[in-house]
Amino acid sequence: MTALLSRTLTRPELRLDLDAVAHNTRTLRARTRAEVMAVVKADGYGTNAAAVARAALANGATRVGVTSVTEALALRADGIGAPVLSWLNSPLADVGPAVAADVELAVPSLAHLLAVPRGARVHLHLDTGLTRDGSVPAGWALLCEEAARAERGGRVRVVGVMSHLACADVPADPVNGLQRKRFDEGVRIARLAGLTPEFVHLSATAGLAEARNHHDLVRVGAGLLGIDPIGASGLRGAVSLRVPLDGVRKVSAGTPVGYGHRWRAPRDTVLGLLPVGYADGVPRSTAEPLEVGFAGQRHPVVGRVSMDSTVVDLGPRTRPELLVGEPVTLFGADGPSLADWARRSGRLEAELLVGLGARVRRSWT
Ligand SMILES: *Cc1c(COP(=O)(O)O)cnc(C)c1O
Repeated sequence: MTALLSRTLTRPELRLDLDAVAHNTRTLRARTRAEVMAVVKADGYGTNAAAVARAALANGATRVGVTSVTEALALRADGIGAPVLSWLNSPLADVGPAVAADVELAVPSLAHLLAVPRGARVHLHLDTGLTRDGSVPAGWALLCEEAARAERGGRVRVVGVMSHLACADVPADPVNGLQRKRFDEGVRIARLAGLTPEFVHLSATAGLAEARNHHDLVRVGAGLLGIDPIGASGLRGAVSLRVPLDGVRKVSAGTPVGYGHRWRAPRDTVLGLLPVGYADGVPRSTAEPLEVGFAGQRHPVVGRVSMDSTVVDLGPRTRPELLVGEPVTLFGADGPSLADWARRSGRLEAELLVGLGARVRRSWT
């Protein structure tokens, strides 16, 4: 009984393996001469931003990146003292407290430049083809001139020039070359305006495949967690989702399961009840059935995933006694990989992680 109890889980848990984050940071760092920025937006891709940042900084990352100033200030509150860049804020956002906390800001427009307080350290952000949040190319020269004027007036310091690739997960896509060319031209314009950025940066995890994307700094998020958009780079999965078995029942052949009776037991079998559903981020409709890991084997999810629960077929040979509380691995560690879940559900790995709900406890070791 003691052995069993020691293995029981009381609630769903996303476990972050910080040794794997450390390994991944060192691996990514070894692939480039550029500095490594640890991107921990969306709470470290649904894990814990400060925990990921700390592990990455201890293993060669020198800077941290997030989207909003709110996220940046949360990192400061959690004791992260390294340089932090925040790159996605409304021109109306109150960025004063972030600048006071030494947070660097991306500046994608004149409106953003005018809104930053005196003393701000900024990275000018050029859109080279993603068509999202950087400066429109037509406004770039003026943005650089105004930033240079602000710098001469001692109002800001332009520490970086940045852009972001749209198709880096397909290194052979000609869009990459086009964006590199536009970026080089943008950097040239910035220098002509008198700017002297220490950090020219373009690449996220996928862009690491090409040394031409690296410049002075690479912004890696997914890779820290072992998510590898381009394959074969020796990264280790750093997250696993485990939930306790909440119930076990024997059913006879033909028993229908779940909403709409979309599945019937093809034989007498044993079903397990998992206390997570689509409210917790378990994908409801998938191209292929999801599988979970239990006692060293794979078992399929059966019937419709509900808002709060999921049923798995543990097979006729499973003995139902004493199983309640035993951990089932949805992905990671001894279960199917997060990449496997992503493939079966047609989602991105990062999308699955950030979609996990608030009822899933986050832990890190
Ligand atoms: C999310 C993001 C990154 C990190 O991307 P990964 O693919 O997770 O490495 C880098 N730069 C920008 C601008 C981003 O939005």
